[in-house]
Amino acid sequence: MIFNVAQLLKAPVGTSSEADIHEEHIQLDDDFRVIRPLIGHVRMRRTNQCILVDGWIDVTLESICTRCLKQFEQPLRVSFEERFYPSVDVVTGVPLPPVDEEEVFPIDEHHQLDLTEAVRQHMLLHIPMVTLCDENCAGLCAQCGHDLNQGPCNCEPAVDERLNVLKTLLQ
Ligand SMILES: [Zn+2]
Ligand SMILES: [Zn+2]
Repeated sequence: MIFNVAQLLKAPVGTSSEADIHEEHIQLDDDFRVIRPLIGHVRMRRTNQCILVDGWIDVTLESICTRCLKQFEQPLRVSFEERFYPSVDVVTGVPLPPVDEEEVFPIDEHHQLDLTEAVRQHMLLHIPMVTLCDENCAGLCAQCGHDLNQGPCNCEPAVDERLNVLKTLLQ
């Protein structure tokens, strides 16, 4: 996800260019395995001081179901918008002072803009706390651990204590 933006940096403010993303084998983060090619689209716009990048990517992660603990493929669409600042002047090659702003990304001295870290950060924000293989996942039996998606187990249904009290009262 590296783009050379030398031409864009030389272009007038407001100039933009677009590109498709297709990455066959990419691992964005140590904790999440990307299991399909990553695809996406970006638009890069020249502003006064930086390149404004916005776009989206579709990424499929290997995930574990919170309810039944099964591995499944979790597709995510991640949209993002970030600012990338040049580290050298594109015409003179003179190093530019570092940008005194948080949450911006550098364009390296070869005018390469690398989206990987920005996409990784946005991906982490998009991963839900609860990941379900299916929103109707039945989960595991709390007593025997049987996967209830495969059918019922032989356990007695857990009886609510309050119902027991009620039963006693009725007798
Ligand atoms: Zn599940
Ligand atoms: Zn059971």
